[in-house]
Amino acid sequence: MTPRDPDCLFCKIVAGEIPGEVVHETETTLAFRDIQPQAPTHVLVVPKAHHPNAVATAQADPSLLVDVVLAAGRVAEQEGLVERGYRLVSNTGQDAQQSVDHLHLHVVGGRAMQWPPG
Ligand code: AMP
Repeated sequence: MTPRDPDCLFCKIVAGEIPGEVVHETETTLAFRDIQPQAPTHVLVVPKAHHPNAVATAQADPSLLVDVVLAAGRVAEQEGLVERGYRLVSNTGQDAQQSVDHLHLHVVGGRAMQWPPG
């Protein structure tokens, strides 16, 4: 059974209860454009099942974390980001400013970026 949190924003997008601009979908993952893009391409890749972060996903269902990473790679290809590169970001917890407690990989690209992040 797919774990789901009825109060989770991304579970609602996965369920189609809140609209999302979906750019890629697999049996286990969904990718949709971030509502506040930080770069020309900014897509969020989530597992359809609810897990709070990457480590929790790896602990509960390791192959699902692989699915999410591979889906992010497909999104990068689709968006034409592979040649110049892109950033995969997974904010985890308060200090990292994670605002939605459902694993999401930010696929960010289309411009040169700075390091370190703020
Ligand atoms: P984080 O701060 O790492 O947890 O990332 C959460 C992301 O979700 C932010 O970049 C938000 O802009 C994005 N976001 C919030 N609500 C929506 C929504 N309804 N559709 C798409 N992206 C969203």
